[in-house]
Amino acid sequence: MSLIDGRKTAGIIKEQLKKDIEQWTNNGNKRPHLAAVLVGDNVASRSYIKTKIKSCEEVGMVSSFFPLDAQITEDQLLTEIQKLNNNDKIDGFIVQLPLPDHIDEHKIIQAIDPKKDVDGFHPVNLGKMMLGLPALLPATPYGILELLRHHDIETSGKHCVVLGRSNIVGTPVSILLSRKSDVGNCTVTLAHSRTKNLNEITKLADILIVALGKPEFVTPDMIKPNCVIIDVGINRKDDATRKRGYRLVGDVHYDDVVEKASHITPVPGGVGPMTVTCLLLNTFKTVQWNAK
Ligand code: NDP
Repeated sequence: MSLIDGRKTAGIIKEQLKKDIEQWTNNGNKRPHLAAVLVGDNVASRSYIKTKIKSCEEVGMVSSFFPLDAQITEDQLLTEIQKLNNNDKIDGFIVQLPLPDHIDEHKIIQAIDPKKDVDGFHPVNLGKMMLGLPALLPATPYGILELLRHHDIETSGKHCVVLGRSNIVGTPVSILLSRKSDVGNCTVTLAHSRTKNLNEITKLADILIVALGKPEFVTPDMIKPNCVIIDVGINRKDDATRKRGYRLVGDVHYDDVVEKASHITPVPGGVGPMTVTCLLLNTFKTVQWNAK
């Protein structure tokens, strides 16, 4: 079994990005600036934003944080987004999800200028992605492609099974891996909660991508020997031996499947660090594209 080390891969990409940004600014160009909007005070969301801001510092990007009250109305949030769209100092921004129930997530995403949509969730970017045009790709699927690329995992002609069809992970990654492109050319099966005989389908996978939000759902009887496993899930599992009372586990029962897989991502330290890194890559792309 070979570990697909997301932290190490993210480190390599960030090191190169730092050099690229240094060269870019030395040539008299603008230093990239990423902003993050947080509505309310969800503990996990705040921690994700902290990581994103720290990563900006690591690569020499400017970052701004806009914490907003949980009671903000949808119209007020739309006004804040317009301000960010019109702010020339900010190259890209994210609105951290999930949003409170009284706010329509789709409306908010569609209000973001697609040129500043570094999460890659806007329909314009998703449409361009579908057509294989240059686009800001959703950060997690982008990170998965980069993990496969950096670990020289052959995708062409392979059967990839994706578990989960969310708009931010499962559906876009299934499209990207089926495209006629460098990391792509897979035959893809997209499975979800209505899929029948799930175990029979997962056992066909050369590459299994799991994005369910179900702790340790995938067990050894569900996989083919020597398959490649990308575990996107991040779940809390009670653990009295830990100071904080829990530990993070993926959607795959890592300890049980690890010997059966040819390659596997750990949780934490697999897809997570790549998501943040691809957000930075997208931010640098916006600066470069918008300078043209
Ligand atoms: P969603 O909750 O949006 O989607 C979950 C998907 O799983 C749905 O399509 C659902 O099917 C499917 N599903 C649920 N139960 C089953 C089941 N028993 N059998 C088959 N399919 C099932 O999740 P996300 O994609 O947003 O996130 C998935 C996980 O990835 C979460 O743990 C999240 O925290 C993590 N995540 C990690 C990131 C990272 O950077 N590492 C980034 C984003 C997410 P249906 O559509 O039919 O309801």
